[in-house]
Amino acid sequence: MSDQANPFESLQEQVDDASAYLDASDDVVNRLKHPERVLETNLSVEMDDGSVEVFKAFRSEFNGDRGPYKGGIRYHPNVSRDEVKALSGWMVYKCAIVGIPYGGGKGGIIIDPDDYSEGELERITRSFAKELRPFIGEDKDIPAPDVNTGQREMNWIKDTYETLENTTEPGVITGKALDSGGSEGRVEATGRSTMLTAREAFDYLGRDMEGASVAVQGYGNAGWIAAKLIDELGANVVSVSDSSGAIYREDGFDPRDVKDHKNETGSVSGYPGAQEEFSNRDLLTLDVDLLVPAALENAIDGDLATDVQADVIVEAANGPLTPDADDVFAETDTYVFPDILANAGGVTVSYFEWVQNRQRFYWSEERVNDELETIIVSAFDDLIEAYEENDVPTMRQAAYVVAIQRVVDAYEESGNWP
Ligand code: NAD
Repeated sequence: MSDQANPFESLQEQVDDASAYLDASDDVVNRLKHPERVLETNLSVEMDDGSVEVFKAFRSEFNGDRGPYKGGIRYHPNVSRDEVKALSGWMVYKCAIVGIPYGGGKGGIIIDPDDYSEGELERITRSFAKELRPFIGEDKDIPAPDVNTGQREMNWIKDTYETLENTTEPGVITGKALDSGGSEGRVEATGRSTMLTAREAFDYLGRDMEGASVAVQGYGNAGWIAAKLIDELGANVVSVSDSSGAIYREDGFDPRDVKDHKNETGSVSGYPGAQEEFSNRDLLTLDVDLLVPAALENAIDGDLATDVQADVIVEAANGPLTPDADDVFAETDTYVFPDILANAGGVTVSYFEWVQNRQRFYWSEERVNDELETIIVSAFDDLIEAYEENDVPTMRQAAYVVAIQRVVDAYEESGNWP
């Protein structure tokens, strides 16, 4: 994985690339290249042995023109101020392309959670929640899970906030467990939008999903669910990977079986049904019909892109291609369907969770999945309309054109508050 590209610079370049097709002045577009504010805080937390450790944490609120800031919280050693800023910007455009009434935010703690006990992680999370408290709220800023965080951390944040505020406000955070106010369908939502985007993309390109070969990089929440649901469309998932490396089988895997193996052993490596094991780089350059990067950003840079042989790329991860890689694919026959649409299922079902929390009325999983499908298919159609009508060079630029125009319109309709 390349560490060359700064994700925040990538985001700014993506906004610039789309600006030529927008009905907006340069100064209004420039606003949309910088976060409104970034909280940087140092959490002092007592460890199990009585010592005190300091953890740097961030929350970026990028833009709130279309509604409360919305976005996940990531626990990872590579979290940085610029990464959080970039991820918060991508959330603005993601919420806009699917037309849900949110702005964008993102948070993170610089930490490898594997190095800490559950008790320590709880104290670290509650300490962060205490720092976030003045900023968050169901009408202000609504965090959610991201890499290495899930229902457990969301429940701790909700409980800390509600205790300190002496209220019940489950809509302050999404991605909660069902009994704590979570939504049916939330766990599968990101992978489901990746599957729906891949399905619509194959349909648009006149390709058959039945028997299509598929490689998925990253076998966490987004990657494994995408693999399972794409397999259910009749495709052949021939290669999957995680940080331990990639496995390959020409006839395709049963994604559920691989997941069981990962649950038992901690990684996809060593899966008994694999014909071959190789590196993540080898997976990314396989000659497949569909490649789904579902790990972290910058997985494919300009150099690697020249070796990529996949016909279609559907991005489950946030920012897995650098702008240099985009430039390469703009000149080849590889179609790239962007993250802000293909992984928008997570935030869309987070929106459903928030709606249910506010109404204190809960939906069935079938209703959640149906409403999600309607939103993703409609956003896909908007993207294709922009791509064809404006003669935009790439699907990513088309998505940004649709999304940024919606944010610009909201800003111009409301006016500026100095
Ligand atoms: P996760 O922690 O559940 O899984 C991440 C997976 O990537 C793990 O299998 C890990 O082993 C693997 N991985 C890490 N480094 C790797 C490497 N160098 N090469 C190959 N695999 C590697 O995280 P997730 O929730 O699945 O998130 C994955 C991506 O999807 C992130 O970019 C995240 O921002 C994005 N995303 C997730 C959601 C969600 O709801 N979970 C929503 C939108 C976007």
